[in-house]
Amino acid sequence: MSTTENHAKVLILGSGPAGLTAAIYAARADLAPLVVEGGQPGGQLIITTEVENFPGFPEGIMGPELMDNMHRQAERFGARFVYGVATEVDLSRRPFAVDVEGTNYTADTLIISTGASARLLGLESEARLMGHGVSACATCDGAFFRNQKVLVVGGGDSALEEANFLTRFASEVCIVHRRDELRGSQIMQKRVLANPKIRMIWNSVVEDILGDPATGVTAALLRNVKTNALTEEPCQGVFVAIGHSPNTEVFKGKLDLDEKGYIRTQPHSTKTNVTGVFACGDVMDSYYRQAITAAGTGCMAALDAERFLAENE
Ligand code: NAP
Repeated sequence: MSTTENHAKVLILGSGPAGLTAAIYAARADLAPLVVEGGQPGGQLIITTEVENFPGFPEGIMGPELMDNMHRQAERFGARFVYGVATEVDLSRRPFAVDVEGTNYTADTLIISTGASARLLGLESEARLMGHGVSACATCDGAFFRNQKVLVVGGGDSALEEANFLTRFASEVCIVHRRDELRGSQIMQKRVLANPKIRMIWNSVVEDILGDPATGVTAALLRNVKTNALTEEPCQGVFVAIGHSPNTEVFKGKLDLDEKGYIRTQPHSTKTNVTGVFACGDVMDSYYRQAITAAGTGCMAALDAERFLAENE
């Protein structure tokens, strides 16, 4: 690859709604952005089924289709795409340097939209049985649990959405939540509590998951946090839906991060503490975490980068 091919005025890390919206705006501004697609091209919506709340789709749209549309829209205006994950970055001088699995790129501005990944419980049995009855993605694995009983761990919108979805396949879905009150939105709570296939197990945490990779999960050992009583809940699947962590490992010590590891941006802007580096989407937003808000901040990042380039050229 020639030097020009490896240099971009705008280099975008990540290809979820934030990164692709930034790519659409930067491409339309004739900045020929280069998008490094990341470990999961298309981001979290790729493993979502129907997106009902993205404006402009009154009947809903499938997550992968929405992301494919955004990708094609960015390409149409001249965005370039490369596969891979940023493994090293040098933000100490401009142009910035980014290593993508052994290939070096340089950039006048950097837009970080690396998103967030599902958090796990941290149990040894969870790691051992992952993909053998334990999952962090109902959309990906739900259909394997037809007529079986599954547990969903968590009390936020992700857990409620996954539980509802899983009732399409499973004979029974138990939501294991560590408190006696759900965190998820009212509409999702209503849906879950009205679903006859869903049972709530309140004030409980998963202490262990029982089973064998060869034969799958047989039960989960639950502890009631109020009484400390242990019970074995028979089930064939455990879906962990306890939130997300930002994908910021590569930026530690190089950018200002908050206490949870999210990139700090200046108020009403996508500017980070390094001039010329912008952040958008779930990697800088632990609060709203919606496709539409990610897309909104992606647009902001592209406009911020465009203005920065205009002022510095
Ligand atoms: P979340 O709102 O942070 O909820 C995480 C849940 O997991 C909480 O109920 C939390 O319990 C529980 N939890 C965390 N760590 C745990 C642990 N170690 N053991 C047991 N339980 C644990 O995360 P989320 O559900 O992924 O949602 C994140 C954001 O995305 C929210 O803003 C949500 O509205 C949004 N979202 C929206 C939709 C939708 O609109 N359809 C769908 C999915 C997500 P506590 O409640 O006790 O803290």
